[in-house]
Parts: sequence; structure tokens; C-alpha cells
Amino acid sequence: MRAVVYNGPRDVLVQDVPDARIERPTDVLVRITSTNICGSDLHMYEGRTDFPRGGVFGHENLGQVAEVGAAVDRVKVGDWVAIPFNIGCGFCKNCERGLSAFCLTTADRSVMPNMAGAAYGFADMGPYRGGQADLLRVPYGDYNCLKLPPDAEERQSDYVMLADIFPTGWHATELAGLRPGESIVIYGAGPVGLMAAHAAMIKGACMVMVVDRHPDRLRLAGSIGALPIADSKGSAVDQVLELTNGIGADRGCECVGYQAHDPQGQEHPNMTMNDLVKSVKFTGGIGVVGVFTPQDPAPQDPLYKQGEIVFDHGLFWFKGQTIGVGQCNVKAYNRQLRDLISTGRAKPSFIVSHELPLGEAPNAYRHFDARDEGWTKVILKPAA
Ligand code: NAD
Ligand code: ZN
Repeated sequence: MRAVVYNGPRDVLVQDVPDARIERPTDVLVRITSTNICGSDLHMYEGRTDFPRGGVFGHENLGQVAEVGAAVDRVKVGDWVAIPFNIGCGFCKNCERGLSAFCLTTADRSVMPNMAGAAYGFADMGPYRGGQADLLRVPYGDYNCLKLPPDAEERQSDYVMLADIFPTGWHATELAGLRPGESIVIYGAGPVGLMAAHAAMIKGACMVMVVDRHPDRLRLAGSIGALPIADSKGSAVDQVLELTNGIGADRGCECVGYQAHDPQGQEHPNMTMNDLVKSVKFTGGIGVVGVFTPQDPAPQDPLYKQGEIVFDHGLFWFKGQTIGVGQCNVKAYNRQLRDLISTGRAKPSFIVSHELPLGEAPNAYRHFDARDEGWTKVILKPAA
């Protein structure tokens, strides 16, 4: 089968690799028809996070079931499914509580002895190949496939967002504790930040402010009724305080991660966290889904060592704020968000800028990594 493989920093190839196949009776084999490039792929693409040469990327996947293992009885050949990026077992202590991002069964303990959580296409998240390929093996397939409604094939560009970024954006607002009628500021108008804004609008926030410096991404935020804030035009914190009568937003979300820059292009891994503490009100809540992990060696970034950033805990404490962080437990939101899409209440495809054949992956990675104007979200189509 063909797959997008890592060939070194800022270099991916589309190559033939051995076919994915059923390896255990609980596996499901999916023929992938839509597979996104994600900001999380860029950590590895840029060579900041380790990834093996020849490894296959891709954790935002949708397709049609091609084969099922002998122990699979809920998912059937021919079903259209979205595949959560977390690989859970469904029966461990964490999965049972809905914390499928922290599964104890599928985790790779060679990363750290108490490791929890696994995903497709990451070096430190288990030996699971990604889905930017013709086929994907889905472990514990009955648990890890979300069945889609009859309009799945025509509306793939909406449903494929269920694999990661729509639930992740939603999760950011949950971690922040957003309630209807409250205001919220979101740092980052990349795909994840735009999904957080979409979630906040659906949940009934009174004001949704989105900070970035790329005009095309800010325009998309405006297109769904959010207030775009260009930090290239002055301090984002000051703009948020002005819009909230000097009080600050009720809630805030971090949707950038350790690759935060200032508007002049200088790296500032701690910038968004500190701006959040300043622009969220006393007693407000902060949700962090942008990635800050101890595994990221970031060799070219002296400001960021093994996940440590300088963070104003004093101001955070003084303001009595709360914080929630971490990977999204996609399963916990998947059915409800699928149903919001199928009834037309949610339309996460508004961020999609490109749908391209798998063979276009090297070019698409280059543009998405450079945040080139108009390259907001790319869906690769292996069958095209
Ligand atoms: P992206 O890189 O396309 O978007 C990030 C955006 O942040 C860009 O538009 C950039 O201009 C903007 N930005 C940079 N510095 C900024 C600053 N100081 N203030 C405001 N905006 C700034 O990536 P994405 O796909 O949207 O992903 C965002 C983050 O979410 C990444 O760290 C990714 O790994 C992470 N992520 C987490 C989860 C999870 O489960 N927690 C899931 C998916 C992605
Ligand atoms: Zn992703």
C-alpha cells in the first residue's frame, strides 16, 4: 500500500510499504478515504519530536471497513467509520471512566514506566502506524471505530474532523469550564483554535475572541461569528481587556502549544500561557490543548527544555484561576459531536482549504508547515 513516510526533518515521501493487515482477532482494517494533516504532525515533521525514518504519519482518519477480525461483532465490513486518534482498549481503569487518551492497555511502557495513552502515527505513543495511507489497522476495533450515518461518504470533510480536532477544540472549552453566556478568548486560529471557537459558539458563549496574526485564519474565525484579534496590531492582552471592560474573559483556551511565536516570528514557548493568565479574569478557567510534552527535545529551541516553560504561577495563583490540560479523550465527545454534524448544527469543514490526492502530501506538508496564506487544513484522499 502507499503511505506518507517520514524521511527526515521537513521531508516526507509517498512510498510503498507493507500492507496494514488484521494482526489480532479484535482488529478492524479500514480502507482510508480521508486523512488530515494536523498541527501535531508538524512537531515530528519539523524534527522537534523524534520520529523514526520510514514511519507512517496520520492520526485523523476516516474510511470504510475492509475486513474485521474474528472477535469483532459490532463493526461490519462496508461501514463508514471515523477513527478517534486515541487508541483505547475500552476496559482499563481509565477507559472505563471515559479517559481513553490515557489507556493503560495500549500504552508503550518503554517511553516511561507509568506511561498511559496511545495513538496512530506518533513515536512515543506506541507502535501504531498512521493512516496517511491506503489502509489502517485499528486495534480494539469495536471500541475504536465510530459508525457514521448514511450521508458519511458525501460529508467526509465534516465527519473526518471527529477523529481529533473537533473533539479537541470542544475539550479545550470543557477544560476551561465554559458555560452558556460566558465570554472566552482562544489563543491560536489554527485548525484546533478554530474548532474551539466553533464549539464555544455552539455552546452559547456571549463573546468568542480568537487571537492569531494570520489574516486568512482570523477571517475564518470572523466567518463563524467570533471576534478576530490580530496580535500583529498590538498586545492581544490589551485588546481582550478592552473588549471585556477591563475585567478579562471568563474563560481562555491555549490552542498553539510550545511552538508559540511572537508576531515578529521569534519563538516564545511560554507566551500564550502567560498571555492567558493576564487576559482571563480573576477566578476564570483556562483549558490547554496545545502540546507541551516532556518528550519534545526541541534541539533548536533553547527556550524550551523537556517541557519546562517559565510560567507566572504567582499571578495565576493570585487571580484564583483554574486550569485543565492534556490530550482530548475523543471517545467522550464523539457520538454527540457526530450527531451535531449530522443534524447540521455543527459544520467543522468550514476550515478545510484543500482536499488533495495522497501523492500531493510532500507539497501539502510544506505549505501547511509554513502557515502559507490559504493553507488552513488539508485532507489527503488516498482513493483519489
Ligand atoms: P497550527 O500550528 O496550524 O496552529 C497554531 C496557530 O497558532 C497558528 O495559526 C499560529 O499562527 C498561531 N500562533 C502562534 N503563536 C501564537 C501566539 N503567541 N498567539 C496566538 N496565536 C499564535 O496547529 P493546530 O493544528 O491548530 O494545533 C494547535 C496545537 O494543538 C498544536 O500544539 C497541536 O499539537 C495541538 N493538538 C492537541 C491535541 C490534544 O489532544 N490536546 C489534539 C490535536 C492538536
Ligand atoms: Zn491531530
